Amino acid sequence: MQDGAHLKCIDPRCGSEYPISYANVQCARGHLLDVTYKTRPPSSLKETFYKRRNSEGSIFNESGVWRFRELLNFVQIDTTDIDQCSKYLVSLDGAEGRQSKPYQMSKVAEFVGISSDNLWLQPEGYNPSGSFKDNGMATAVTHAKLIGAKKIVCASTGNTSASAGMFAANEGIKCDVYIPSGQIAPGKLSQAYQFGAQIIEVDGNFDDALKQSLQDAQNHKGYTVNSVNPFRIEGQKTIPFRALEYLNWEAPDWIVYPGGALGNTTSCGKALMELYEWGWIKKIPKIAVINSVGASTLSDLYNGKFEDKLRWNNGNPDTELVSRYYDHLDEAGLRPKTKATAIQIGRPANLLKGLRALEFTDGVVTTVTDSEMLDGMSVVGLNGFDCEMASGATVVGIKKLINQEIIKKDDTVVGILTGRQKDAMIPVDYHRDSENRFAKPPRN
Ligand SMILES: *Cc1c(COP(=O)(O)O)cnc(C)c1O
Repeated sequence: MQDGAHLKCIDPRCGSEYPISYANVQCARGHLLDVTYKTRPPSSLKETFYKRRNSEGSIFNESGVWRFRELLNFVQIDTTDIDQCSKYLVSLDGAEGRQSKPYQMSKVAEFVGISSDNLWLQPEGYNPSGSFKDNGMATAVTHAKLIGAKKIVCASTGNTSASAGMFAANEGIKCDVYIPSGQIAPGKLSQAYQFGAQIIEVDGNFDDALKQSLQDAQNHKGYTVNSVNPFRIEGQKTIPFRALEYLNWEAPDWIVYPGGALGNTTSCGKALMELYEWGWIKKIPKIAVINSVGASTLSDLYNGKFEDKLRWNNGNPDTELVSRYYDHLDEAGLRPKTKATAIQIGRPANLLKGLRALEFTDGVVTTVTDSEMLDGMSVVGLNGFDCEMASGATVVGIKKLINQEIIKKDDTVVGILTGRQKDAMIPVDYHRDSENRFAKPPRN
């Protein structure tokens, strides 16, 4: 293995560095870490990635994650050597990210008010465990294996546990899953059970579950696979990679995600920072993050709804302001609340990295209501695609930003549909109520 990648603290005043074999998700001072690479990959790799779509029998070409392995080569293997790939890279037999690409959806475009040619939606719900989480889990579990971890640990609003459970079962390692009791979709919980994960029910919300899982991981030598793990972020960079490749590496004007723990925001930002630095893209798309009205930490802070507008500020964000906001939530007894449980998060673990992504891309943050999200989810269905309520935030977020003329009618927009429907009663209840915009109630 070569010595070309390491971990680096995201705080420029701290800047501490660690070898790739470092097992913690934070630096010694408790800051988040980045995986950084010394080499600048040549843009001739674009051709290599394209050619790998004809996999020639290699699961690492089939994989929508490892097809881009030169751009996430933290293991520092010879990426052309299939034996090394097989030895080090963790894959669900090439299935992670394999089905993922952007589509045009005419009914969605009509609903949001943009030309069908300008709107691309990329469903990540067709990943093996049913959400985008598989992109990041492939890389996180690769690192877990590299450092010899016997057990992976996560807190989850549902999809992380489904993905972690699936990868753990495939690799024959243990998996502990901390869930907020009674607050995750039955279809997600049942997956974690099905894959043999150990469920730990936490009396509290996701933020409480994450806190406990991070503590227990430290004390009981577990390996954390939540998106605070910088290796998760590496795999999730392939979500924008696939969209960009499909658009011939011509950057769109916007990339839109729902915002929960902000792992996606972070990975998209990091992907764009790297591609721009390497000269692979000439334009920087703006990232739009869509919060739920009921779990709007990022929006409140970024848009100055609490005190001053919170910014990355070149690596000097006002972390005191963040603490005051969290104190305010606690004192007022405010708990995140939305039916879109995947984004029901009050303390986004990647807040600072998310701010960095927004600064780099001159991004925006907005909020949508539960009933709007349900409409967004439902209109995706009318185009023959499946997504869950949190993913509906992407659609109605785009609609809102178009109405506000923040997204212009002739802008090109890529929206990420993060996961597939696992809460069977949500569409049933939606369609039974004829008041809902896209409802088709049953007949007798
Ligand atoms: C995890 C998840 C999210 C939130 O993503 P973050 O990267 O944590 O912001 C959104 N939608 C779905 C379906 C998810 O599973």
